[in-house]
Amino acid sequence: MSTNISIIFKTRDTRKKERIIKHIVRIIARFSLCLGCRLCELVCPTNAISIKLEKNKYIINIDPKLCTGCLLCNNLCPVGIFYEKAVKNSYST
Ligand code: SF4
Ligand code: SF4
Repeated sequence: MSTNISIIFKTRDTRKKERIIKHIVRIIARFSLCLGCRLCELVCPTNAISIKLEKNKYIINIDPKLCTGCLLCNNLCPVGIFYEKAVKNSYST
């Protein structure tokens, strides 16, 4: 199964667009394929993340009151990094 995603940008800056796509891809990968390594829990500076195993699937909970949007969790997640690299050549900005 393949899914197409369209994103409308308000910027023409290619670097900004690439950064946004990178984070979106990583977020999708993390939330659907989390391996439960808990690295994100460990690095989150505000303890906003908790990982729970429910019905054989790891669930990422982020407390919006605590999250500052620093994206450290997204930058360090091995699953997100792997899949973002894997799809990098398949998107155009
Ligand atoms: S770092 Fe990534 S793989 Fe590890 S628990 Fe967090 S979301 Fe899951
Ligand atoms: S974006 Fe930053 S503050 Fe928010 S959950 Fe991730 S590491 Fe924590």
